[in-house]
Amino acid sequence: MIDRTHGYYQKERETMSKRRREAYLKERLSEILRYGYRYSKAIQGRFDAVGVKPEKIKTLKDLEKFPITKKADLVNAQKQTPPFGGFEVVLKKGMRRIYISPGPVFELGEWDYKDIRWTQALFACGIRRGDVVLNTFNYHLTPLAFMLDDSLRMLGATVIPVGPGNISMQINLMRQLKVTGYLGTPSFLMSIIEAAEGMHLDLKKDFHLKAAFVGAEMFPESLRQKLEGKLGIPIRQAYGTVDVGCLGYECSEKKGMHISEDVIVEIVDTETGRQLEMGATGEIVATNFSKVFPMIRFATGDLSYLIEHPCPCGRTSIRLGRILGRTDQVTKVWGIFIHPWQVDEVMTKFPEVASYQIVVTRKEYRDQMTMYIELKEAVADQIGLRRRLEKEMDEVLKVKGQVEFVQRGGIPDRAKKIDDRRIWE
Ligand SMILES: [Zn+2]
Repeated sequence: MIDRTHGYYQKERETMSKRRREAYLKERLSEILRYGYRYSKAIQGRFDAVGVKPEKIKTLKDLEKFPITKKADLVNAQKQTPPFGGFEVVLKKGMRRIYISPGPVFELGEWDYKDIRWTQALFACGIRRGDVVLNTFNYHLTPLAFMLDDSLRMLGATVIPVGPGNISMQINLMRQLKVTGYLGTPSFLMSIIEAAEGMHLDLKKDFHLKAAFVGAEMFPESLRQKLEGKLGIPIRQAYGTVDVGCLGYECSEKKGMHISEDVIVEIVDTETGRQLEMGATGEIVATNFSKVFPMIRFATGDLSYLIEHPCPCGRTSIRLGRILGRTDQVTKVWGIFIHPWQVDEVMTKFPEVASYQIVVTRKEYRDQMTMYIELKEAVADQIGLRRRLEKEMDEVLKVKGQVEFVQRGGIPDRAKKIDDRRIWE
């Protein structure tokens, strides 16, 4: 059950029935579409380009009629109509901040930050009123650290706006101020731990941490186990982007990431923009309800899937599954898309494999796929292992390939998992 003994939790929203949730989202969707059409030149332009009026989009399925906006579209729009690309809605009150994200992309921060999605995420992670929280996300130009800072305020927690870097200072602050919560990337938390161990500190006694919230990076389960084991606290992640905010957050169950009531998340076919069925893997596309920088169907470039079955925590939202990779890591072989995450899936069944690389080449106008395998140690039945690997690869990837074993160290550390060496003439 959801612990709501202290601080922030909105039962009404987070446990509503499926029917109520759908009705609620439909209402919010109509509202933001009409708002965007009226006040954002770019959104109006996108509606007009496909000859659709906001009233024609009544359901989540109808959203398919609206074109996808990719990051590159946003960058181009901002070049053509500087500085905000016409997406902005300038309110009477003015704008609080202008953020600059890689691209470069300019984005607006509202005067009164009321978006509760990151607050929900922090609460689900275990951060409570009265906690003292080290925010190590970067306060330089980009919005995430500020959004979390405002969210901690909504939660009633105290923030130390430290940003990243200077690890020995971070460690001193954590001890002197009895810090109970960490916000930052998982890799930075690992760096702090390693430095503290180097100083012979006892992580469970010298630190006062109760919870850690991580994001902005891939967070493999093996790293979670390592960090949780060392610190003896729960570590939860959330997923979002600077353009559309928080799209999912983990609860104590860590069975996928709950999607807040204040955003619409679709999983779509990257090529067609059509919505995929529940559970299928595709690109994460989001529509937020921001009144200053509304984004309708923004494509994140990240791949995941949706989970519908109920979560034991009591929240009733649909959840986002693991982030499986980027859409641009995909390679087409024999006309079939293969993703690095699919190969990772094959490899989980072969513990004897240390590392692998798939190389795609072309011979006499035909694609060739070779999987190079480095083993942890020599195996007795290499021929049998090769056969099993080839069979499994064929089943999961739907593409036939050949397995070749290489010496230890034969695959460079930073090699691409799928290396496309085809030359097109
Ligand atoms: Zn849950």
